[in-house]
Amino acid sequence: MAWYPGARKMELQPESDSQPAIVPTQFILHSIAAPWTVQRIYEYWRDSTNLESHFGVAYDGDLGQFIGTQTRADANYSANRRADGTGAISLESASNLDHTDPWTPQQIEAIINLGVWLNKTHGIPLRVCQSWTDPGYGFHSMFPEWSGGGTACPGDARRAQFHDTVFPEIVRRAQGGAPSQKDVLDMTPDELKAIVKQAVEEERLTLIKDQMFWLGVLLDSGDAPGDADVQYQVAQTRGLLKSFFGK
Ligand SMILES: [Zn+2]
Repeated sequence: MAWYPGARKMELQPESDSQPAIVPTQFILHSIAAPWTVQRIYEYWRDSTNLESHFGVAYDGDLGQFIGTQTRADANYSANRRADGTGAISLESASNLDHTDPWTPQQIEAIINLGVWLNKTHGIPLRVCQSWTDPGYGFHSMFPEWSGGGTACPGDARRAQFHDTVFPEIVRRAQGGAPSQKDVLDMTPDELKAIVKQAVEEERLTLIKDQMFWLGVLLDSGDAPGDADVQYQVAQTRGLLKSFFGK
């Protein structure tokens, strides 16, 4: 049984011992339609249903593994374990109740790293599945055989992220590429806002440090500083401190 070292091991019983072995050939991504922590996903599998996924990832990127990757988990209907013994590894991800929101950057990072490990550990080929039995990477709504007739999971936003970011980055890193800085043009408005906010705060901190320095120079200089100079610097510093703390 293989357990991913990058996940917290939260073994689900009795499924972990009672379900048959698989040869994993696919990795299928899901949204769970609830904004849950990994612990809550684990409890849901344990207490509320006899279904389960191999992995669960929270909004903050916290990752749990519930079933070994060479044991069947029941999230992908006919792909859980096929007649030839091959099967799919599944990951559930925290989402809003309608699974319409995109994965967070932390979720994307966790999924990419796991995807690389699955390629290295189980030889899951670096390709998008072309049919419900074809080895590779995919998401739940890709083929009706994976859901027993169809599903919207994991949602349009995450399907786009799979094609635009998650899968290409798994391929790139599995082939030896370092994690890339995301291109500004690929960012969502929220991601851009967060970066601009951080940059503004860093810039303000730098300005405040400069002001402190010049104030110190004025006060330390052997020449008595003119009142106007000191007042100017004090006013500058006060203004910056006010803006930094948003008051
Ligand atoms: Zn699903």
